[in-house]
Amino acid sequence: MFILKAKTQLVNAINKAKKLRPTVKFDHFGRYRVSGSKGGFYTVLCRKSNNGFKTVACTCKGAEKGLVCYHAAAALALHTGLARLRQAA
Ligand SMILES: [Zn+2]
Repeated sequence: MFILKAKTQLVNAINKAKKLRPTVKFDHFGRYRVSGSKGGFYTVLCRKSNNGFKTVACTCKGAEKGLVCYHAAAALALHTGLARLRQAA
């Protein structure tokens, strides 16, 4: 899990996601499943904690070590779009 503070954290992960183009499946707002490079899906949870931090958790090995993985970047792209729509509604 990592705390999202700045978009710059995501640059490498976004580039990787653009290259690999994982499938992102929508479970519900804040919960997504992203295809892995070796098949299967990882679950990505995007949350806003009570103290206002945005946290992103992914079930892959990299994220376990606190790395910003491309699954998280792919899910966040969808999540932030949805969050914007919600605010507009
Ligand atoms: Zn991941």
